[in-house]
Amino acid sequence: MPEFQTSPGTRDILPPESTRFRELVRIFADVVAPAGYGEIIPPMFEDLGVFHRLGEATDVVTKEMYDFVDKGGRHIALRPEQTASVVRAFVQHSPLVPWKVWYAGPNFRYEKPQLGRYRQFDQVGVEVLGANDPYVDVEVIALAWQFYERLGLRRVTLLLNSLGNPDERRRYVDALAAHFTANADALSAESRVTLQRNPLRVLDSKRDQDAALVEAAPKIAEFWSDGTAAHFETVCTGLQALGVPYTLAPRLVRGLDYYRRTTFEFASDALESAQNAVGGGGRYDGLAEDLGGAPTPGIGFALGVDRTLLACDLEGAFAAPDLAPHVFVVDTTGGREALIVTNELRAAGLRADRAFENRSMKSQMKAADRSGAALAVIVGTNERDTDTVVVRPLRDGGEQTVIPRVALLDTVRKHLEP
Ligand code: AMP
Repeated sequence: MPEFQTSPGTRDILPPESTRFRELVRIFADVVAPAGYGEIIPPMFEDLGVFHRLGEATDVVTKEMYDFVDKGGRHIALRPEQTASVVRAFVQHSPLVPWKVWYAGPNFRYEKPQLGRYRQFDQVGVEVLGANDPYVDVEVIALAWQFYERLGLRRVTLLLNSLGNPDERRRYVDALAAHFTANADALSAESRVTLQRNPLRVLDSKRDQDAALVEAAPKIAEFWSDGTAAHFETVCTGLQALGVPYTLAPRLVRGLDYYRRTTFEFASDALESAQNAVGGGGRYDGLAEDLGGAPTPGIGFALGVDRTLLACDLEGAFAAPDLAPHVFVVDTTGGREALIVTNELRAAGLRADRAFENRSMKSQMKAADRSGAALAVIVGTNERDTDTVVVRPLRDGGEQTVIPRVALLDTVRKHLEP
């Protein structure tokens, strides 16, 4: 065992997986940029207070924060998510509204590491600030849906709920607290602790012992005002108009306290149920004010990159891209020819690789095969002296040919045509 290994809950993402990872972000940008979203790159750490506003009752804030005092005496935290940073940026820079942004990058939470749950994990997401219109909710949700479709995921379900406005939500939380307190004896010990801190989160319990009480709990819809119900109805009919299927989830509450009205989650049934959320989001109309700005409606989502890729693996979707070189250059003259030829091929936009250390022809041909290249281009002293090269197809048979050196690019391109 080497002395140093990755810290628990962190991973090296190696090629070719790293290419797939970046490609996922590129596809995300391809989906959201045409819809008018610009990329924001917030810092990875912020004043701890920015994240405290996420709610004192959430685990993300109370237990999982990577926080420290820096050399200047500032209390800093590595971001556990990016919505708070985006809203802080909105308040700081006062951009024109509606402000539509997307982001991609790592977050840090001190969680118990397991498959699909890491201490450093990546998210892609969008946020819209300054537009109070249910069609914004529809736009945002549909973008996430289109992204999953573009990846080729088929086993993702959109779960949809509304947590009501703050007043409705408060009355609902009171009713939940009363319901669970009256039946506290029947709750699991864990849920009794949760009940003290945040009655909403008891609904999240996946323990069998809690199932009946969760099932019998009051539903948020009973507390909706006409306005909340109408907003939700428009979101539903908007999604229908776009052909985005959804499942009503009256008990869906999300991990962070700031959510209001529309809330949603994307669950993959390809993943283990405890870790089956591949993404989620909702409205957070009070957050800008909590961060010192004017009251501003906001909505967004964050999708877990690591977990989405796990779901892709399990569904056999979105395979890692082929990184094999187009051409492997074999040079038995000492290596200088390979230097020039690979350079020429690369400048023409082709993937070209070579061997080093002046290996034997046999050893270089073995390396060419191992590389997965479609073609070998071979230069020996004979070819060098006659201004020719040998082009040998490696994958699907075909005769090797000797061609004039000047015809190299054209010949390679012709071979690579589908
Ligand atoms: P949240 O910000 O908690 O709403 O999470 C949004 C999405 O990020 C989840 O649905 C997960 O896909 C992903 N996610 C959250 N926490 C983790 C973690 N510790 N490790 C991996 N992915 C995570």
